[in-house]
Amino acid sequence: MSTGEPLRPMPDDWQGALAVVAHPDDMEFGAACAVAAWTAAGHTVDYVIVTRGEAGMDTVDPREAADTREREQMAAAAIVGARQVDYLDYRDGVIEYGLPLRRDIAAAIRRHRPDILVTLNFHERWRGGDWNSADHRHVGRALLDAAGDAGNRWVFPELLDRGLEPWKGVRYVAVAGSPFAGHAVDVSATLDKGVTALEAHRSYLEYLGPDHPMADARAQLETKMRMFGERFGGTPAMAFELIGV
Ligand SMILES: [Zn+2]
Repeated sequence: MSTGEPLRPMPDDWQGALAVVAHPDDMEFGAACAVAAWTAAGHTVDYVIVTRGEAGMDTVDPREAADTREREQMAAAAIVGARQVDYLDYRDGVIEYGLPLRRDIAAAIRRHRPDILVTLNFHERWRGGDWNSADHRHVGRALLDAAGDAGNRWVFPELLDRGLEPWKGVRYVAVAGSPFAGHAVDVSATLDKGVTALEAHRSYLEYLGPDHPMADARAQLETKMRMFGERFGGTPAMAFELIGV
């Protein structure tokens, strides 16, 4: 679990990132603060969201929820300068690890040709010890495997028929929310944008209700970035686990 050891600056010598996460809002609970810093520095960042988050609100019909959450995700991405948001249209809540998911993510990697990948915690537990959701666990693991698949022309040869040539350029995966974070990004100039991006998920935050600990976007992101900052020279920071692929 979390060590308290100093976090090292995340490498900056890359051009394009592709973020692949299970749900609308997965990027906004922290990672988007770093996305805003990256895009301000001239990096390009695209998002691929595996579901439309339609099962996220008990009182809202999934068809209505999907439209609302997609619209709010588009707004959130634009606020931090993300260039493009695509959806893989898997069913929310029941994502399975398997070859179809690996193939679809590998196709996205070949299409975007990123230098780095970004995702949300895929470990069994969160930092505080709570159990992580099946969707997050399966998407993160499939992404790590798909990074290799994207570079191998003999894995998923049907992608060649779609004009998707192998892409071997991915250097590592940056995992937000991981209990094993060792690197960080200075978000002192972009924390406010991250807060605005999280607030763009208005329907979900309203659904949580004002007393829910995750409903106050500013309070929770400031607390999180300050906590990481204590291990990063005192400046507000977003932490990532970096995994070479
Ligand atoms: Zn999620």
